[in-house]
Amino acid sequence: MTAAGSLFDWNSRLRGMTVAVTGASRGIGRETALQLAQHGAKLVLGARDMAALEQLAAELQSAAPEAEVAVTGLDVTDEDSVRAFVRLGAERFGRVDALVNNAGFGVFAGTLEMSADDFSRMVDVNLKGAFHCAQAFGRLMVEQGRGHILNLVSIAGTTALAGCAGYSASKFGLLGLTKVLQTELRRQGVQVTAVIPGSVKSSFWDGMESTPNLDDMIPTETLAAHLVYLLGQPDGAFIDEITIMPPKGIL
Ligand code: NAP
Repeated sequence: MTAAGSLFDWNSRLRGMTVAVTGASRGIGRETALQLAQHGAKLVLGARDMAALEQLAAELQSAAPEAEVAVTGLDVTDEDSVRAFVRLGAERFGRVDALVNNAGFGVFAGTLEMSADDFSRMVDVNLKGAFHCAQAFGRLMVEQGRGHILNLVSIAGTTALAGCAGYSASKFGLLGLTKVLQTELRRQGVQVTAVIPGSVKSSFWDGMESTPNLDDMIPTETLAAHLVYLLGQPDGAFIDEITIMPPKGIL
């Protein structure tokens, strides 16, 4: 194997790495956890739906009996819950190498029709929740002298789309937070990447009255594979922002 080839040996880079995933009960977070386990990563998984997490842990264990997985109830809007999530990872595995800061949701309506409550909930989960997680894991990673945080932004965090007021506000905010974190943490060995996906065919869209064509969206498995790739990047450079679009563009 060439030297360049060995740089991209994801399996050996991910094997033994501890990765925390928020919003792991379904969708992108769940699929990312499944793929990371196949690459030999140790996992700390959180979401509010504990039954779904336990089922995922059982699935992981039967697919990869050597997989090391810790699951816990997590509400990213609650700082105590986030601190307990970080402690679980640090105590069980000694360190946490990466955070997939993924928990989030969207409610879509025109700005004039959207309830203030829906607007606030999106800011609380998608922006403030992501801040709680980045701060708590960021502190641990600075102590470790090394770490990587992937913030799940959205194309609605870079582009104005009608009907996305609260979601866009939360995701533009998250992109701003990501850029600030990059400048603050990079010299302390912590990388922060803004992941900016277009529409992904996940449970995100369940129950919405009208959605774009689900079959034109990025498959959840494909998006998760990109996240796994980002976590396995070779040393010496980092991807600070990546836009991942469905083949037909913004839907
Ligand atoms: P999803 O299928 O609806 O999954 C969302 C996850 O977030 C669930 O596991 C949910 O778990 C968790 N979650 C929601 N509120 C939470 C809270 N307060 N505390 C902890 N966990 C919480 O959505 P997805 O498509 O996987 O989306 C994942 C991320 O990607 C989100 O940040 C989303 O904004 C972003 N994104 C999605 C798309 C898309 O088209 N799907 C595109 C761009 C970006 P519980 O309900 O069990 O807590």
